[in-house]
Amino acid sequence: MASAPVLEHHVSLLPYNTFGIDAKARLFARFRSVEELRALLALPEVQQAEKLVLGGGSNLLFTQNFDGVVLKNEITGLEIIAQDEAQDTALVRAGAGESWHGLVQYTLSQNLSGIENLSLIPGTVGAAPLQNIGAYGAELKDTFDHLEAVEISTGQLRTFTHEQCGFGYRESVFKGPLRNQYIVTGVVLQLRRKHQLNVSYGAISTTLADMGIEADPTPRDVSEAVIQIRRSKLPDPAQIGNAGSFFKNPEISQAKYDELKAQYPEIPGYAVPGA
Ligand SMILES: Cc1cc2nc3c(=O)[nH]c(=O)nc-3n(C[C@H](O)[C@H](O)[C@H](O)COP(=O)(O)OP(=O)(O)OC[C@H]3O[C@@H](n4cnc5c(N)ncnc54)[C@H](O)[C@@H]3O)c2cc1C
Repeated sequence: MASAPVLEHHVSLLPYNTFGIDAKARLFARFRSVEELRALLALPEVQQAEKLVLGGGSNLLFTQNFDGVVLKNEITGLEIIAQDEAQDTALVRAGAGESWHGLVQYTLSQNLSGIENLSLIPGTVGAAPLQNIGAYGAELKDTFDHLEAVEISTGQLRTFTHEQCGFGYRESVFKGPLRNQYIVTGVVLQLRRKHQLNVSYGAISTTLADMGIEADPTPRDVSEAVIQIRRSKLPDPAQIGNAGSFFKNPEISQAKYDELKAQYPEIPGYAVPGA
């Protein structure tokens, strides 16, 4: 049963953002289920206030106090909801408040592959579709099946298919036309039992070689390599506040890339699938 919603006043957001900014929220509440979220959204105080959904606070920079209500997503749950023996795939459902890296670890423990290149990205599962998180040659959209989200204005639960999410490079419909209209409550991914690993990006293959793995790496090996690379490149937000990289890779035409490559032979470049 869902517990009654609790609204706190003037709460410091310092523990809830990776920059460690001591901004205050005028109102603050946690939700652990769709029912608790709906109950919160029905409160007149919440209805009248500006709303900010908070996951792990790893892609936010507070520049001042927030004069609205912060809704902290704590919906948990990790499970395999379907298996396709013929295709060797499985559908994994994760509550939106689960940590993304926790989900990666769970899938590895179930001998499933598909998101190992996205190891150690901070934040929650629910925020991942918003910007179609990506790293080391993989993006959320590569394994995404569908998500569930509550419409803020009506409290209705809706399912969004891959197509309806409008994924692009660090983009989705939730950053565009549907911005601030839905709260993601669950995400379903389609993962593989027959592994097709991508070790071509960045330093993955050389790191695997340094780990003594020359042939047939497992998804866990790739995850370990990605973790090692990430730890060597980015400061741990627990030690130095940050929100990761602020930059996007430029997308350019093949002709422009060839021109640059001729001038700077060392320049790295990757094909955009479907472009
Ligand atoms: C050290 C470091 C490394 C990083 N590396 C990468 C990387 O390699 N690739 C990458 O793509 N990103 C990276 N990031 C950025 C960050 O990890 C992602 O953007 C992540 O998805 C943010 O998740 P979060 O739960 O912390 O979101 P938050 O910071 O809490 O929220 C971000 C935005 O999403 C909204 N939001 C959050 N949850 C929901 C929800 N359930 N429903 C609707 N809206 C929601 C918030 O309102 C806010 O607008 C990095 C960040 C750090 C600190």
